[in-house]
Amino acid sequence: MSITAIDKEYVAGTYGRFPLELVEGKGSIVKDTQGKEYIDMGTGIGVTAFGYCDEVWTEAVTRQAMKLQHTSNLYYTEPCASLAKLLCEKTGMKKVFFSNSGAEANECAIKVARKYSAEKKGPDCFQIITLGQSFHGRTLTTLAATGQDHFHKDFQPLTPGFVHVEANNVDALNAAVNGSTAGIMIEMVQGEGGVNPLTREFVAECARICKEQDIPLIVDEVQTGNGRTGKLYAYMHFGITPDIVSTAKGLGGGLPIGATMMGEKVQNVLKPGDHGSTYGGNPVCCAGALTVIERLTDDFLSSVRRKSGYVFSTLYNAPGIESVTGLGLMIGIKTTKPAKEVVNACMARGVLCLTAKDKVRLLPPLNISIEELSQALDVLKEVCAE
Ligand SMILES: *Cc1c(COP(=O)(O)O)cnc(C)c1O
Repeated sequence: MSITAIDKEYVAGTYGRFPLELVEGKGSIVKDTQGKEYIDMGTGIGVTAFGYCDEVWTEAVTRQAMKLQHTSNLYYTEPCASLAKLLCEKTGMKKVFFSNSGAEANECAIKVARKYSAEKKGPDCFQIITLGQSFHGRTLTTLAATGQDHFHKDFQPLTPGFVHVEANNVDALNAAVNGSTAGIMIEMVQGEGGVNPLTREFVAECARICKEQDIPLIVDEVQTGNGRTGKLYAYMHFGITPDIVSTAKGLGGGLPIGATMMGEKVQNVLKPGDHGSTYGGNPVCCAGALTVIERLTDDFLSSVRRKSGYVFSTLYNAPGIESVTGLGLMIGIKTTKPAKEVVNACMARGVLCLTAKDKVRLLPPLNISIEELSQALDVLKEVCAE
């Protein structure tokens, strides 16, 4: 039986997989069972930030795996402490809670906002405002936070207490805020929603309301974080200081880790027993994540912004390309042909891309070479022009 046949028989049918069996990778290149090579412009949905089996990351992870692979949170370990310290030093946040995924990072963020607001304003203050077309995860609570109805059907009742407001609509936002608002949660660039950045005006309004009314501002940086947009975190483009930042995906460079960072205002909300995760802060995951965050220096981030400029200028006004949106190396492309068709044609020619709603989405390795980037964009342009 082929890998595909076994998978189809035994793995829960939640994914529409491409007909591709991947076996190994190096840098920006991944190989299938037929030995065919692909330039990977999707990085496992923004996870393998420094490409496949990056040497620095692989070394740190294997060294830690040979020393101590897990302890639980009953004990202290060095990688967990060092990663929390580095994240706080680089962001100005005060405390970090580690989990294992984006959804869990958001669960923690929501719990922190609710506890802060309930303690300050009373038990009726529990509503979290999120945005239309947002995506915050697949657990029942983060699904409730997700502002896309089609994810909700068949899973009612979801966790109550979430209100969705149209993105970039300042009036709708102001109309939704009231005495029971316990948090506002936003993605600076909506990833799954179609790679749509928020406007500076809307973000500034979220920050203003939160500050004036003592409401925690939560920024979901699961996809936008860890250098993806050309800054360490995407909120840094917008001149705001969130109270809570959740992240995952690229943080681990390929191993599962989520982090919820808490700023000054909410840093002491969580007390012993309030939250936990058996795997959270796993030393192998943290050792890998440390090598990711350590390398996101100002110089490196400016190289990400340069590559971003290259992608935008290469695709701008190209035949069959209607628009290019996004920030840094998180890019959404509206093509004349259906996105799915473009992605399939690119795959046949050795380039892996993603979709987001009706767009082609690119999340290439942050350290992809200009040659590989240019090769992949040539294929994409060729496919779009046909
Ligand atoms: C992917 C994603 C999530 C969910 O992350 P998982 O690790 O799949 O749970 C949450 N928020 C955003 C913005 C994401 O892109």
